[in-house]
Amino acid sequence: MKQLEDRIRQEGAILSDKVLKVDSFLNHQVDTELALATGREFARVFAGERITKVLTIEASGIQFAMAAGIALGVPFVYAKKKKAVTQSDKVYTAQVHSFTRGETYQVTVDQRYLGPGERVLIVDDFLATGAALVGLVDIVRESGAELVGVGAVIEKSFQEGRGLLEAKGVRIHSLARIVSMKPGEVQFAEEDSQ
Ligand code: 5GP
Repeated sequence: MKQLEDRIRQEGAILSDKVLKVDSFLNHQVDTELALATGREFARVFAGERITKVLTIEASGIQFAMAAGIALGVPFVYAKKKKAVTQSDKVYTAQVHSFTRGETYQVTVDQRYLGPGERVLIVDDFLATGAALVGLVDIVRESGAELVGVGAVIEKSFQEGRGLLEAKGVRIHSLARIVSMKPGEVQFAEEDSQ
């Protein structure tokens, strides 16, 4: 998605050879028009899949799952990282190790909001080590819902996430695929290699 690649080139800060900071427009301050455009693009790519629900994980996947949900005309659900007192005990759970925070946490989705008969698109801001998305894939499969695919806003193709998801037979579409990066230089995969 050219608009997204341009913004990453203009505003992305490369903190190390593995970490890209995009918090001026993506995951701290959010460019709402760009977020809505990502949702329309996911809806276009997965058109015809009869998606009934979008699933993401709090916090920084929420704006993109909402945008995809709006474009598809379906609800979205976000997996929670902390159990709330209001949450029921009937939940699907997965263990996720956070690459950026260096900690492992349990994510949960209430069983009332995911189950057989649903056709689910998973959306997240980054596909990096794949830990978060693999956790969501496992939750969808445990629930008996049908997984349509995974949409990532930014994929760092040099990390192992894509390989892990492909090994699970998951269709992946990323709006910007970074093949390499170093300060002042971000290299994207060609559009048609997606
Ligand atoms: P995973 O390693 O599980 O694929 O990524 C988990 C989460 O870590 C992503 O959803 C994203 O929020 C965060 N993350 C991973 N890599 C980066 C990065 O390079 N920059 C930023 N800002 N967040 C990242």
